[in-house]
Amino acid sequence: MQLSDCKHWIFDMDGTLTVPVHDFNAIRKLIGIPADTPILEAIARMSDADAAEARRILHDVEMDLAASARPQPGALAVLESLAARGATLGILTRNDEDIAAATLRASGFEHLFQSRHVIGRETCAPKPSPAGIHHLLSLWGAQPEATVMVGDFRYDIEAGRRAGVRTVHFDSSGRFPWPEFTDHRIRSIGELLALDGFGAPAGGPASAHGHVV
Ligand SMILES: [Mg+2]
Repeated sequence: MQLSDCKHWIFDMDGTLTVPVHDFNAIRKLIGIPADTPILEAIARMSDADAAEARRILHDVEMDLAASARPQPGALAVLESLAARGATLGILTRNDEDIAAATLRASGFEHLFQSRHVIGRETCAPKPSPAGIHHLLSLWGAQPEATVMVGDFRYDIEAGRRAGVRTVHFDSSGRFPWPEFTDHRIRSIGELLALDGFGAPAGGPASAHGHVV
């Protein structure tokens, strides 16, 4: 199956559909956890009282950032093109769902995602767990082979690999670490529509083989 035949698309939000604005080490400092430690996992190891306070701080910081979210160049065109092809679209984020909704609204993507297809940390175990992908596959009645996970961080494509879906790693630096989790590589979100079956000329090889996209 070509990528263009995949009908189910799951995107990471922050830094993939939106321009990155999070300074995660500054957030870690506010919460009192060491630099470069995964934040949600560090909170999960805290006492209940400390974890509640850390979640409150994290939520406040991320809600402030959501208001200033901006779309990644090319992302709106890609999402609208996929939607026009009849694809189902979902979001899998380590963020809270109310923050995800605010971020999607500020970025101009709100109309492209049903709220029950925006999966945050309160619905499923966070990436790199594949739980959120399994949840969306089940909601959609989708097969992993017909599903794509797109993201800019290791946890996105690791979750995709563990769920058995196709993975696309977006890395504007072009370094592409984590090849073990990566099926396709893009340096801009717009490049998605130049991959594997997309953009085949009318009457060209793709349609000659009966692929209707
Ligand atoms: Mg990201």
